[in-house]
Amino acid sequence: MPAYSHYQPLALANVPHWDFTTDVAIIGFGATGACAAIEARKAGAAVMLFERSSGSGGASALSGGEIYIGGGTDAQIAAGFTDTVEDFTAYLKLAGGPCVDEAKCELYGREALAHYQWLKDQGVPYRGNYLPGKVIEPTDDSTLIWSGSEAATPFRLTARPAPRGHVIQHVGWGGGRPLVDILEARARDAGAEIHVDARAVALITDGDRVAGVVMRIDNRDRFVRATRGVVLATGGFVFNEAMRRKYCPESFRVNSPIGDKDDGIGIELGQSVGGDAIHMDQFFTTCPWTIPADQAHGVFVNVAGQRFINEDCYHGRVSRCAVDQPGGKVYLLLDSAHFSQPLDLAGITIAGTGNTWEEVEGELDMPAGTLSATMAFYNRHAHQGRDPLFDKQAPMLVPLDQAPFVALECNFETSYFSFFTLGGLKTGTAGEVLNRGGVPIPGLFAAGRCTSGLPAWGHGYSSGMSLADCTFFGRQAGRAVAQLKN
Ligand SMILES: Cc1cc2nc3c(=O)[nH]c(=O)nc-3n(C[C@H](O)[C@H](O)[C@H](O)COP(=O)(O)OP(=O)(O)OC[C@H]3O[C@@H](n4cnc5c(N)ncnc54)[C@H](O)[C@@H]3O)c2cc1C
Repeated sequence: MPAYSHYQPLALANVPHWDFTTDVAIIGFGATGACAAIEARKAGAAVMLFERSSGSGGASALSGGEIYIGGGTDAQIAAGFTDTVEDFTAYLKLAGGPCVDEAKCELYGREALAHYQWLKDQGVPYRGNYLPGKVIEPTDDSTLIWSGSEAATPFRLTARPAPRGHVIQHVGWGGGRPLVDILEARARDAGAEIHVDARAVALITDGDRVAGVVMRIDNRDRFVRATRGVVLATGGFVFNEAMRRKYCPESFRVNSPIGDKDDGIGIELGQSVGGDAIHMDQFFTTCPWTIPADQAHGVFVNVAGQRFINEDCYHGRVSRCAVDQPGGKVYLLLDSAHFSQPLDLAGITIAGTGNTWEEVEGELDMPAGTLSATMAFYNRHAHQGRDPLFDKQAPMLVPLDQAPFVALECNFETSYFSFFTLGGLKTGTAGEVLNRGGVPIPGLFAAGRCTSGLPAWGHGYSSGMSLADCTFFGRQAGRAVAQLKN
C-alpha cells in the first residue's frame, strides 16, 4: 500500500477496496457539518457524516450558541432598532478589516434574514426579547444582545448601530449544546448516515479531483468513496502547537486555548491536495473584563501608562488590541464608583491602588506624569462628554475621579485570555476549496473554522460571527456539493 497521510492524498488507483460509498462525505459533526448534512440531504444526495468523537458537538457544542444576524430581524424590530442589509453588510466588512472576504460578507448580508428563518424552521427557539447592556452571554433566556463593536468608533460611523447577537433561547451560558442537538436531530431526520468514532486521515484523489476519504475506524483504515465530493468541517487549529508556531506565533502571547479537537487536520487535508490556507495568523482572544458590568466603564493603559483603544468596543476587540501592547500585561483603571471584585475566572488581580492617580502610577513603578497625565486628560474631557483621543462614547465614557483608585492587572500569561484561531482554507461563497490560483479543487468543499470566513480578523471579531459563518457557509457547502454530478 503506498504511503498516505493528511499531508499526502491516496490515489484512487491505489485504493484496495471500498468500505463505504456515498454521494457526499462530510468530515466533522459540529454546527458546520450538521448544517452541510441537512442541506445536502435536502438536495437529494446520499450523505455520510463522519465524526472522530463518540458524538456530535465539537467547539460548537461548547459555545454560547450565539449567531450574528442582522438586516432587520423580528427581535431587532420589536426592540425598536432599525437595521438594514446595507448597514449589516457594512459592519461585516469593517469587522473583516484587512482580511475581509467581501463576497462572503455581501452574500451573508443579503441572506441573513432567510438564514435566521431557516434556523427557526429547524426548531432553534428564539424568544425574541432584548437584553440591553454589555453582555458576554445572557444569564437569563433573552435572545438578542449587543455582541460586537457596533456602537463604538469607527464602526458606528460607517454602519448604523444595532444589536445583532441572536442567542438560542436557553437559560444561562452554554446554548451551543442545545443548538447542536437540534441540528443533529434535523440531520438524522433528513436521513444523513452518521458514523462516530471515525477519524479522517487522508483524502483520496482521482487525478485532480477529490474522490473520497480514508477514515480510521476501529483502529483500521476504511476507504470511503464520495462520488460527488467531500466537505471538511473539522474546526480550527488552536490545539496544534506546531501549526500555531508556524502560522500564528502571536497567539503564544496568551494562555488559554478554547475549543474541542481543533488540531488543524482539515486545513492540512485541504493543503494536501493544493488548497490555499489564508489569514493563518489571525486569532480571537478575550479576557472577561466587562464582568462585573461596572468594570466596562474602565480605562485601559499599557505598561507605559498610555491608552490604546476606545474601551467601549467589544470586549474581544479590546482584549485583542491589549495583546498587541508590549510588556505582557495591561491595566484596567477604575475609580471607587465603578470598582467591584473581578470575576474569579478572569484571573484579574489588583496591581496598584491610591488616593490619587499619581499614587497608583507610583505603585505601578511608572515614570511620574505618564498614567496620571493620561487620566487627567481623560477625566477633563470625559466631564465634557468627549474622548478626543479614541472617541469613546457614552454611557461608557464617564470620568473616573472618585477616590480611591485602582489598577487591575490583565496579564496575558496569568489572567484568562481565552483564544481560538480564525485562519484556514480559502473557499468561495459556495464553500468550494480554492487553490493558490483561486481555482476550485474539484470535489472538495469546506466551511467553519477550518476555513477563513466571516470572522477573518481577530481585531474585528464580534460574538456570533463564527457560528454565523459555520451554519450559513456549512449550508452553502452542503447544497453545492450535492449538486455535483456523480
Ligand atoms: C467556550 C466557547 C464559546 C463560544 N461561543 C461562541 C458563540 O456564542 N458564538 C459564536 O459564533 N462562536 C462561539 N465560539 C466559537 C465557535 O463555537 C466555533 O468557532 C465554531 O463552533 C466552530 O465550528 P466548526 O463546525 O467549524 O467546528 P467544531 O464545532 O469544532 O466541529 C468540528 C468537528 O470535527 C470533528 N473532527 C475534527 N477532526 C476530525 C477528523 N479528522 N475526522 C472526523 N472528525 C473530526 C471534531 O471532533 C468536531 O466535532 C465559542 C467557542 C468556545 C470554545
